[in-house]
Amino acid sequence: MTSSSFNPVFSARPQSIFPTMSALARKYDAINLGQGFPDEDGPEEILRMASDAIMEGPNQYAPVEGVPALRKAIAADNKRFYNLDIDPSTETLVVSGATEGLAAAFFGFLEPGDEAVLLAPFYECYAPQIEATGASIRFVDLEPPNWTLDAGALENAITDKTKLIVINTPHNPLGKVMTRDELEIVAEAARKHDLIVVCDEVYEHLIFDGRPHIPLMTLPDMRERCIRIGSAGKTFSLTGFRIGYVSGPASLITAVMKAHQHLAYTSPAPLQLAVAKGFALGDDYYRTFRADMQEKRDFLRAGLARAGFDVLPCDGTYFITVDIRSVGASDDADFCRMITEKAKVAAVPLSAFYHPSQENAPRVYVRFCFCKRIEVLKDATDRLSQYLC
Ligand code: PMP
Ligand code: GLN
Repeated sequence: MTSSSFNPVFSARPQSIFPTMSALARKYDAINLGQGFPDEDGPEEILRMASDAIMEGPNQYAPVEGVPALRKAIAADNKRFYNLDIDPSTETLVVSGATEGLAAAFFGFLEPGDEAVLLAPFYECYAPQIEATGASIRFVDLEPPNWTLDAGALENAITDKTKLIVINTPHNPLGKVMTRDELEIVAEAARKHDLIVVCDEVYEHLIFDGRPHIPLMTLPDMRERCIRIGSAGKTFSLTGFRIGYVSGPASLITAVMKAHQHLAYTSPAPLQLAVAKGFALGDDYYRTFRADMQEKRDFLRAGLARAGFDVLPCDGTYFITVDIRSVGASDDADFCRMITEKAKVAAVPLSAFYHPSQENAPRVYVRFCFCKRIEVLKDATDRLSQYLC
């Protein structure tokens, strides 16, 4: 068997940029500001509940849709933060990480001949997952440095084959939060062309400077067209739990569930119970989580500026982008390899967030992640300053 006989959607692509950069960081003993994962685990209450639930059960298959306690918590969370009325028993679904939720959505909604619209740059798994369904992708390029969505560009990308649009706010890798005007552009297109919108909102609780998160689903007529995807990995700093959740109208949730049952089937029952406990945490948890992360953003931003980088705005997520032309570099992938090996700090090139066919994708931006302890960020920015200045 040669790899040329395997499905090229996967086999013709390189390994994902995140494990690739993490492996390189390990090889050169570099501080890993590439792959986005916190270096401190989330709340102790959740960890304890997980270990109790493993000891006491349930440890057999959970219901396909998720354990009732977590489904109830997901619905209550929609009400608590966004005043959305979601029926736990028909309008929620527990998935094995947002990654699997996205795959289940694309497999549930798309078939060969359909088109999906992606705003580029976009989170890495969207394109291969969509292509694996047999659907094709149309891209709308967001232009640096503000990465603003243009209504005309979106309209041009939509054809009579378009079935869905994917949006991601707050945005990985850009750290951009979509404005109400931009959300309205998407809503208008969805209404006009009768489209589904897959809303990747995994960083919903990581928006800074007092700005709110606005789910597209809260805009007029959007309740029936959108699914919202969240992640316990991001909200509770437990990326290894692999628990995600999807909310939306029953017809869309059923379609996603029908794919989910043949992808992951179910998600770990004891961890679902633990995450349900997380949803009951008070407002203090969210306030502190956001404030801590904002402090880290400010710290990394200042350190990167001191190292000579032109730093782009970051309103949410745990990623910050720099323009590497400010330090005399011109190729993001080469630059990331070089700083990992020489400065001993790993980062991720933004070109990895474009489709391989997008030959004109910018190659001068690099993403650093700041969900690390301040002393780690200090060490990393000191190393970058020493190497670059
Ligand atoms: N969407 C975005 C925008 C992400 O950044 C990530 C991962 N960090 C995911 C989805 C996947 O989340 P999960 O780890 O829950 O699969
Ligand atoms: N979402 C994380 C990032 O953007 C990594 C997730 C992964 O490794 N799949 O860095």
